[in-house]
Amino acid sequence: MARTLISRRSVLEGTAALGALLAAAGELSAQPRPPTPLPPRDTFVIRGATVLTMDDNLGDLAAGDVHVRDGAIVAVALRIDAAGAQIIEGRGMICMPGFVDTHWHLWTSLLRPFVRADVAELGYFPVSNRLGQLMTPEDSYRSVMLGLSEALSAGVTTVHNWAHNVRSPEHADAELSAMRDAGIRGRFAYGPAQGMPDDQPMDHAGLARVKRDWMPGDGLLTLGICSRNVGAMSIGGATRGVLTIEQTKRDWDGARALGLPITLHTSGPSPIKLLEDAGLLGPDVQLVHPLLTTPEERAILKARGVSYATAPVGEARRPASVGVIQLGELLEAGIKVSLSTDHTTNYNCDPFVAMRILFALHQHRIGDKVPLTVKRLVRLATLDGAIDLGIAEKTGSLTPGKRADLILVRSTDINMAPAGDPYEALVSLAQPSNVDTVIVDGRILRQAGKFTALDHAKVVRDAQEAAATLRGKAGWPG
Ligand SMILES: [Zn+2]
Repeated sequence: MARTLISRRSVLEGTAALGALLAAAGELSAQPRPPTPLPPRDTFVIRGATVLTMDDNLGDLAAGDVHVRDGAIVAVALRIDAAGAQIIEGRGMICMPGFVDTHWHLWTSLLRPFVRADVAELGYFPVSNRLGQLMTPEDSYRSVMLGLSEALSAGVTTVHNWAHNVRSPEHADAELSAMRDAGIRGRFAYGPAQGMPDDQPMDHAGLARVKRDWMPGDGLLTLGICSRNVGAMSIGGATRGVLTIEQTKRDWDGARALGLPITLHTSGPSPIKLLEDAGLLGPDVQLVHPLLTTPEERAILKARGVSYATAPVGEARRPASVGVIQLGELLEAGIKVSLSTDHTTNYNCDPFVAMRILFALHQHRIGDKVPLTVKRLVRLATLDGAIDLGIAEKTGSLTPGKRADLILVRSTDINMAPAGDPYEALVSLAQPSNVDTVIVDGRILRQAGKFTALDHAKVVRDAQEAAATLRGKAGWPG
């Protein structure tokens, strides 16, 4: 596949002369799509909302104001009068940090017509492994854009894009372009590709190229890697790949040489002891699916500063024989925990339901032994996600000085009213349709439950078209 002769950033900042140069070089087809214009960063005051800051020093306000300027939170107070600021009515709404989703395979979003929850051979893993190998960079763009549109609609303002189908440099650029065009904050976890042999090293040159061309950009996107599974075949083996500890060291060392963090699935036989014995665990490692850890392993994770992302909606569908969500055990051990969607092929992105299911499972299993508050769950879905991704200095709470990633949730809707305790309302009653306004880095991306710039109908049409083409290419369901 052709590669551009010049850096992507140069192209993005390019001139007509540069375009002519590329055309002359016959490279125009490999040019990344131009950025879609995003709304400007406004100066505004959100007036009279129930403000949940998730900042222990600031606390919450039953009715208060939030002032945003140049993409940053300037102040949170009972009353703010800022000359020239647009006023956004916040009465009847909960103003809170946007949700931080810490593990999501966005490239699988358009596989919805193919995946079945109740037919094993049409399950998420075999379908994504088979069809993933047929996906073009354009398919990746459309799939990631579909997922991100849903993320923003549900109030997610930061996403960890777990991209384990990076088939070429163009696939990486396509996924990053979708993240840029959606205006969301996030980490791109550069991965292997579906069908890639386990003994093939990860593409460190491609990883270095993405770091050079895309980072730090405007500060919204960060970079890491997603690792193939370690040590033993387990759930999702073919989809995720399986590495020996020597192969793991090779892949991880290359990422660490570039200063990049690592994420890894752990469902099935636990690799934690193996990784610890090889000296590979550290605070730059995020594990996914906390189902089967032992007390000894939890002590290791705490000592090494490793975090764990749970994806409760999908994990709750697995047989109990592969483990239960150990939220209580992890929190008691002092391990960093965060909340994630995983994928949206046979369920949707709904952080409220994720919190609700997590709470129900915890109460059902060990709630009488390990107390858990609804406020703790909202923190898990916001600030703790930012801590997990290493960006808590930028987002995760409504702390003045942080970037303005916040949402307004209507508490006057029929499923919420008459709302009492706001945390109770969010965890027990809310749904994505209550998310009125979504702001990322000071840009109002959604207002009154609608996108301000993104063409949602086109995103859906593009995904439908790509899925239909993929169906033909695969000869599905043959
Ligand atoms: Zn996953």
